[in-house]
Amino acid sequence: VRLQQGAMTAFDLTIRGGTVIDGTGRAGVAADVGIRDGLIAALGPRLGPATHEIDARGLIVAPGFIDVHTHYDAQILWDPMLTVSPWHGVTTVVIGNCGFGIAPTQPQHRDLILETLQVVEGMSLEALRGGLGRDWPFVTFPEYLDTLATRGMAINVAALVGHTPIRLYVMGPEAATRTATEDEISAMSMLLREALAAGAFGLGTSRAATHNGFRGLPVPSRVASADELRALARVLGEFDGAILQIARPNTDYLEMMAELAVLSKGVVTYAALFADSEAQGPPQPIQRRIAELNAAGATIVPQISCRPVMFEYDFEQPYMLGWAPCIAALGRCSQEERRAAYADSVFRRTLADTLAAQRPAFLRNTRLSYIPIAGGRELVDCSVEEEASRRGAAPVDLLLDLAIATNLELRVSTAVANSDEQQLAELLRDRSTVVALSDAGAHANQICDACYATYLLGYWVREKRVLTIEEGVRLLTSRPAEVFGLVGRGTLAVGLAADVVVFDPGTVGAGPLMRTNDFPAGAERLTAEARGIKMVMVNGRVLRADGVDVCQSRQPLPGRLLRRAL
Ligand SMILES: [Zn+2]
Repeated sequence: VRLQQGAMTAFDLTIRGGTVIDGTGRAGVAADVGIRDGLIAALGPRLGPATHEIDARGLIVAPGFIDVHTHYDAQILWDPMLTVSPWHGVTTVVIGNCGFGIAPTQPQHRDLILETLQVVEGMSLEALRGGLGRDWPFVTFPEYLDTLATRGMAINVAALVGHTPIRLYVMGPEAATRTATEDEISAMSMLLREALAAGAFGLGTSRAATHNGFRGLPVPSRVASADELRALARVLGEFDGAILQIARPNTDYLEMMAELAVLSKGVVTYAALFADSEAQGPPQPIQRRIAELNAAGATIVPQISCRPVMFEYDFEQPYMLGWAPCIAALGRCSQEERRAAYADSVFRRTLADTLAAQRPAFLRNTRLSYIPIAGGRELVDCSVEEEASRRGAAPVDLLLDLAIATNLELRVSTAVANSDEQQLAELLRDRSTVVALSDAGAHANQICDACYATYLLGYWVREKRVLTIEEGVRLLTSRPAEVFGLVGRGTLAVGLAADVVVFDPGTVGAGPLMRTNDFPAGAERLTAEARGIKMVMVNGRVLRADGVDVCQSRQPLPGRLLRRAL
């Protein structure tokens, strides 16, 4: 849509008086934004009147944020609002990551697919069963996309097709235990071709050693041979702009990705490059090797997270402390014995000394997350060290006192990776990466990183000043759009989709994590509110204003199923 002369007053809506940051990294400018028919119709000073006006004085007007690493494949069928992503200004998500979609799936494999999601993505089986019902309205991937398009959704959704469902569809339960025959590989190639022709943005797959699925077996994609991966990459190469997303294995993955990038003639993006992680090692050698491979013709884009990777546990089985001999020695102790040990002053001194000697940053990276108290729950999200100093106690004493007081139900979370802030700042400045990894929709009772967009703006832009606001917005908008081929999104420019977020740069941020039981069958999950997000618009319609949904899930919703441009 081009702006017609004399049509200056014909906007459906004008966002007036804000500072427009267009997502490209260019400096913000004072401008009004005129919207018509779901598109940006004009950008400039003092645009004419419109049917509706939004006052954005003192606020930033930016493209809606794009979250390219989510697992909403199942949740979208019972929660078309895709909570909590839009709360944080996200207007487009990519689903099907790591190859864990739910289509194509033959009816007799539905339980295996749900069990896979339960095991690998920590989704509640009751919630999945309750949310999807027995009769899924799709079998093939094109039918799945059509189901989404017909039912509608609050924000835009682009889908990768999953290697795991494709493999299960062709091989049945043996998909988790053996390599495929040539015939089976051709059958998988046909399914991939069918999905790409229907608008899938690419293929998601996992080689990650930690990804186990039904019956505790490796997820099917992990069992694929190198030849199978090559064959599927060649199919991607038949389609312009189709991408390959991989949850990486622990070793030798860069050379493999470089080969697949050449065969697929497109982007290979992987999860994840961490600032620090014992399994990965330091990031710099990896960054250097990626630069070399990309200079030689590959397009490898590592996904990074702007938040530490947290793992939550209780004190009946404190997994994260299992490396400490005094904790390991408790082994199969009864609850009473465990409580007695936690109360013992010698035990406490031993644990404190072990921590100080071997993992000095452990307590600094540990946060209290959940303290059950008589008659209810105290919802908290604060650092153990800070809380201990507030109470004038030693951190180990605070932890173990709370553990005993809560009958060992105290839950805390400890960063397992990505907690080195200096390194993380370097990764955020590396222009070959893409910020992603919210895992939104997965591990719902463990994490809520769906709030990473407001976190990035509040923490890395405003508090730490590691990024300018223009660069922060670019990382959340045009950069993911460019990597994933989301044409017409991620930039505020005339003629593009009116996906817009208006926020207050002085207050934007992610609120503390909270526990709710709003999933099907009362399943529990973590959520986080956003601060400073004033308005979220999707395809020209206001979805949220001042932190409240304006569109309700029973009305036609403004999001669209995006299909890769053919
Ligand atoms: Zn994932």
